[in-house]
Amino acid sequence: MQIHETHCHSLYSGDVDKTRGASIDALCARACELGLGSIAVTDHLEIDQTMGNIFPPLDNEGIRRDVTAAKEKYSGKAEVVYGVELAQACHKMSKTQSILDEYKYDFIIGSVHCVRGFPDFSDMEYPAVSDGTLAHSWELYLAEMNEMVDWGGFDTLAHITYPYRYFHRHGREAIINVFEKGREQFEPVLRKIIHKGIALEVNTSGLRQHDGCTFPHTDLIKFYRELGGELVTVGSDAHYACDLAADIRETYLLLKELGFGSVVTFRERKPVFRDI
Ligand SMILES: [Zn+2]
Ligand SMILES: [Zn+2]
Repeated sequence: MQIHETHCHSLYSGDVDKTRGASIDALCARACELGLGSIAVTDHLEIDQTMGNIFPPLDNEGIRRDVTAAKEKYSGKAEVVYGVELAQACHKMSKTQSILDEYKYDFIIGSVHCVRGFPDFSDMEYPAVSDGTLAHSWELYLAEMNEMVDWGGFDTLAHITYPYRYFHRHGREAIINVFEKGREQFEPVLRKIIHKGIALEVNTSGLRQHDGCTFPHTDLIKFYRELGGELVTVGSDAHYACDLAADIRETYLLLKELGFGSVVTFRERKPVFRDI
């Protein structure tokens, strides 16, 4: 069974530690070492550059140059996919559109890391924020995800339930109760992506970061399948070469148990089915 990495970050991403991060070339070299079938390089394009200003404008030119070079250098070894993690696309629609017009990505991940009026969920002052405010931010998260899916200019919906990670780390997860209410909370968005042919990402980062689950967790993946969903991308969200492809094989096995026969990668924005 060949493994495909669909979500990872190079030194171009603002949240990668400059002393430990890897260049695009180094990530692709590592992918070849691991025998991966393909690697999508998906640096953070945070449309509103949030998270305590650690996201300066992305060097889109540098990325395009490095990915183009890597595609050629590793051709015949691992397929290098020109991807991007596009976050908060709807916060500045004209900026989003002009970047997407200019850079012809193979693969676009759609993410919500923060909602209007709030910092990134990773960056909130949890002890100081009331339960009511956190509940409100979660409602906005669901609403903004629906808004982004209604727009639909991306290929896979990233790490749904993402705020759970931070609520959980601060002991506040009971506020959202996603394990019991997830089906109800995410049903509209899951139905929409299925209808639009947008894939669901299963993000494995929670397994190695001790969050205890993938994003989304197993029951929501199962629910997506029950609703008729067939397109799944699996990505580690590695920010360092040592985490590349982490837990992807195990997640493929889980998907098989849930009835999926394949995962997808993307080439020129079109799904490519990969047997698992
Ligand atoms: Zn993300
Ligand atoms: Zn990411």
